[in-house]
Amino acid sequence: MKKTIRDLDVAGKRVFVRADFNVPVDKSGVITDDTRIQAVLPTVRNLRERGARVILASHFGRPKGKVVEDMRLQPVADRLSELLGASIKYVSDCIGEEPEGAAAALQDGDVLLLENLRFHPEEENNDSAFSKQLASLADMYVNDAFGTAHRAHASTEGITHHLPSVAGLLMEKELNSLGGLLVSPKHPFACVFGGAKVSDKIGIIRNMLQRVDLVLVGGGLAATFLKARGLDIGQSLVEDGMIDECRTIMRESDGSRIPLLLPIDLLVAKEAKAGTRTRVVQVTGVPADCMIVDIGPKTIEYFFEKLEFCRTVLWNGPMGIYEVPQFSLGTRCLINYLAGLDAASVIGGGSSVDAVQEMGVGELVTHVSTGGGATLELLEKGTLPGVEALDNPD
Ligand code: ADP
Ligand code: MG
Repeated sequence: MKKTIRDLDVAGKRVFVRADFNVPVDKSGVITDDTRIQAVLPTVRNLRERGARVILASHFGRPKGKVVEDMRLQPVADRLSELLGASIKYVSDCIGEEPEGAAAALQDGDVLLLENLRFHPEEENNDSAFSKQLASLADMYVNDAFGTAHRAHASTEGITHHLPSVAGLLMEKELNSLGGLLVSPKHPFACVFGGAKVSDKIGIIRNMLQRVDLVLVGGGLAATFLKARGLDIGQSLVEDGMIDECRTIMRESDGSRIPLLLPIDLLVAKEAKAGTRTRVVQVTGVPADCMIVDIGPKTIEYFFEKLEFCRTVLWNGPMGIYEVPQFSLGTRCLINYLAGLDAASVIGGGSSVDAVQEMGVGELVTHVSTGGGATLELLEKGTLPGVEALDNPD
């Protein structure tokens, strides 16, 4: 584990907090989901209560290194003020005279929000002069942007070369929950993988296969695995370039006696569109003109039987094209099942987390990760550049 804000004496100090305020907004710039802002509040509150002068920074959208008016952080500044019940200061750049003046004028407990870091190309290029300028605003650095920790950018990596650098409370929670899966999970431990592409998930599947007792595969991934087993999958999404990888993984699973289970029946349709006629078929019976859109009812039951005795379950990736309600049964049933399961349940990945939040059962699972790519990369590699860069305990 890395040092956290609890290890620092922050009273009267200027603390640069890298947050992930990359929230969804509608066309008129109104925030439609403030989960990511809420997630950083424990760190901000903790620092303020202890008398720190908090300087918040984040990226927002993809402005590609120039100022884009629609991607200013004003809506975030407003929402933060509301949520903290205190007016925060907000400046129109993240480096230069204005932020320097504002940072110097901060009093204990004050909060300053800097403008979108990615208005400067130097942020994503991890430019060392830019990192230094960011660092010059503060006395210490906190990374609470778990969702960005797989990127070595100026505000996640470069800046740590210039300041004492620790994890925030959200970062700590993510590292404990996800790291716990790698270090000391309760067994039996199962992973359920779905989603669109094998190529996105092959690394994590391979790494988890060495640590778990069971792997279940659904979603679009399953089609490529089924094809690798020699089955006809009609018009389903498939990655022909990954078939050899799938075979290797299935061989590894056989060799290590860690079962990797595929669907036994499927929901298929001629088109991935609402209103299309669907039918349930056995895995051996996918019609040539149909595509797999969800796992079938027998598979749902079969997967649940396998999960029933597990004490830890990691789930990533929808079981079907869940955005179309007709094709969402497998995913919704799985979420409900995990919410009721007496096991440590951890959910990661952009779509999977969205699906859980939509169903409003986030509270019922053990941990819903705030990272998409970062979550997968942490579980694949065991660490992230933005985490590595933080200080180790003395
Ligand atoms: P996560 O963001 O949770 O890691 P992914 O990004 O890997 O998940 O995949 C999410 C996408 O996978 C969804 O948009 C969903 O429609 C798609 N998907 C799931 N099952 C299928 C399928 N059988 N065919 C095509 N796409 C699928
Ligand atoms: Mg995704």
